[in-house]
Amino acid sequence: SLILVTGASGFIASHVAKAFLDEGYNVRGTVRSASKGDYLVILFKNTKGKFEYVIVGDIAKEGAFDEAVKGVDGVAHTASPVTFAAKRPEDLFVPSVNGTVNVLKSIKKNNPDIGRIVYTSSSGTVNDPEMPCPVRYDETSWNTVSVGVCEKLGSNADGGHKYRASKVLAEKAFWKFFEDEKPKFDGATIHPVMTYGPIIHQCDSPESLNDSISRIWPFVSGKRTQKDLPEPGSSFVDVRDVALIHVRAMSVPEASGERFLASSERYSGDDVCVILNNEFPQLPNVPKGDDSPGARERINAVANFMDSAKSQKMLGIKYRPIEEVVKDTTQSLIDRFNII
Ligand code: NDP
Repeated sequence: SLILVTGASGFIASHVAKAFLDEGYNVRGTVRSASKGDYLVILFKNTKGKFEYVIVGDIAKEGAFDEAVKGVDGVAHTASPVTFAAKRPEDLFVPSVNGTVNVLKSIKKNNPDIGRIVYTSSSGTVNDPEMPCPVRYDETSWNTVSVGVCEKLGSNADGGHKYRASKVLAEKAFWKFFEDEKPKFDGATIHPVMTYGPIIHQCDSPESLNDSISRIWPFVSGKRTQKDLPEPGSSFVDVRDVALIHVRAMSVPEASGERFLASSERYSGDDVCVILNNEFPQLPNVPKGDDSPGARERINAVANFMDSAKSQKMLGIKYRPIEEVVKDTTQSLIDRFNII
């Protein structure tokens, strides 16, 4: 069968496309330019399933996906701006919300018999960034503060709130569509925490890395120093696991109407540095990181716990540990940018 993956040129979406292709699905990706599409055609030339692309310039434009959805059996909607540096909240809200509603409307109009749409939401719609840590979160939780902060402060709101609010509003619009329109197809949402893992998408310089990888890059490149540590613990997940969740959530019947947190475990900048020093001693300027007995447990115990038991049980996901994720992310960055 044929799956539409929106924003296929992105860090996560390129892995989502690959995961479907590796399972034998055919994939149609939407991209904003032919050069990004052509890159993916070459990347996926030997996969089990076949890859093709279509150009969808502005996802926020009414009817943007009208042609792209024709003939597909399922949709993975991943395209959305990811940045904590937007000026106005609307700069994120418009593509995020309209892009999501547009893909749903196009399916209903032109291909209502598809089975399911899997939407890449975020852990940012789950956890409340203003609550003191540590809190345990699961799929019943909602971020109830970011939208209000943006309404009150507008452009002056913190960049994290603007991004998270864009995801909350888009996900609310997603579920509302099913309530209001009662389409024949159903939906599921995926909520990754900070996502790392090897980069396979087109990216020519460290400056144009996607948001999450650009947070690990300064440790690899030595731009962050010992004085940046310790930083508060957080949660991570590998992009390959996130991609597999999309495939499983598309095919497992019980996933209908469900939200799935995608999270491996807690980690901190110290963990990243300790692993970098162990695995890549040739990298210059990596801060040492605290590897004293009990340090890891002590730092991580005060981070929020993002409970991903549901995806493990219902979708059979086994999350990669931090050592593997840091190692594979770093190797891909070294290879891509020829840094050592
Ligand atoms: P990327 O920036 O790598 O990918 C974003 C994708 O969306 C790109 O394909 C991009 O196209 C496309 N896009 C962005 N803005 C627009 C727009 N205005 N119109 C059309 N297309 C647009 O980010 P990620 O891969 O990290 O993120 C993908 C999804 O995963 C997002 O929905 C994000 O919210 C979600 N997510 C990411 C997490 C992470 O840690 N990385 C964690 C939780 C959720 P182009 O390539 O042309 O720029």
